[in-house]
Amino acid sequence: MSTQRKYTFGPVPSRRLGLSLGVDVIPKKLCTLDCVYCEVGVTDKRGLARKEYFLAKDILAEVKEVIAEYPNLDHITISGSGEPTLNSKIGDIIRGIKQMTTVPVAVLTNGTLLDDPTVRRDLMDADIVSPSLDAVTPEVFEKVDRPNPKLRIDNIIKGIRKFRQEYRGRMWMEILFVAGINDQDDEVYKMKQVIDEIQPEKVHLNTVIRPPAYLFAQPTSQERLKEIQKILGERCEIVGIFKETHTTQAHTTDGQAILALLKRRAMTVDQMTVSLEMKKEEIVGSLDQLLQGKFIKTYTFNGEEYFQVQ
Ligand code: SF4
Repeated sequence: MSTQRKYTFGPVPSRRLGLSLGVDVIPKKLCTLDCVYCEVGVTDKRGLARKEYFLAKDILAEVKEVIAEYPNLDHITISGSGEPTLNSKIGDIIRGIKQMTTVPVAVLTNGTLLDDPTVRRDLMDADIVSPSLDAVTPEVFEKVDRPNPKLRIDNIIKGIRKFRQEYRGRMWMEILFVAGINDQDDEVYKMKQVIDEIQPEKVHLNTVIRPPAYLFAQPTSQERLKEIQKILGERCEIVGIFKETHTTQAHTTDGQAILALLKRRAMTVDQMTVSLEMKKEEIVGSLDQLLQGKFIKTYTFNGEEYFQVQ
């Protein structure tokens, strides 16, 4: 398309969703939560007001133009730089996309507004809805997701449960574990009770894989994730590194691209500049973040500084 894209990103390859075109329906970073692991950054104001923050007609016009360029999409995924259900026109956006294509529409949400019947109705026409639920007790919810003070975890769980009963599409839940915060047995066994009640089609288990908003948020080990998977049962699946979360689709960031590259081999900044066709200063900024988050390390070889995954 001739003009710069404002609301769409990708398509990006996604383990769950195949080749997925992302649609961002919310300005950065408008969210009901301030999750410690959030890769979009800290939430300055945890808002609950639903508005047409980006106009549905503008989003749909761009989606129409972009999908004409990509005939092989597996999904169109509404996620974003914040919580997508805060856009009060998300229902119109889903229906509008479905009128223009047969490509299935997925919504990645933090689930906090699902106790509102209007929000549940708005999501009814999506083919897949993936709500996250990182905690089931108020204390742990507070620690891991730092919610707007008006949000109550019991109401959120009720909302997700109701949505499961009303919705005819596919529901895949997501839990993101942070070491020492929401991965202890106590919370995990309580999560199991809630999941057994909700009965989602699948539960994806994830952990911190990119620089988090709060640097103390560290990943849960793969060994612990496997133990948790055993406790939570068969419908749970540990998702691999570089899998999208409800926000990462919008942020197939420079940092993510660099990590993917460094996973294959150590490189200098100049080599990354060529491989990624990015400006040096953009690469250096992302490398700083990745170093701070201890995702990568450096070493010197033949007088040159190399970066590699930890
Ligand atoms: S991870 Fe998602 S729900 Fe949590 S603060 Fe970031 S955008 Fe909001």
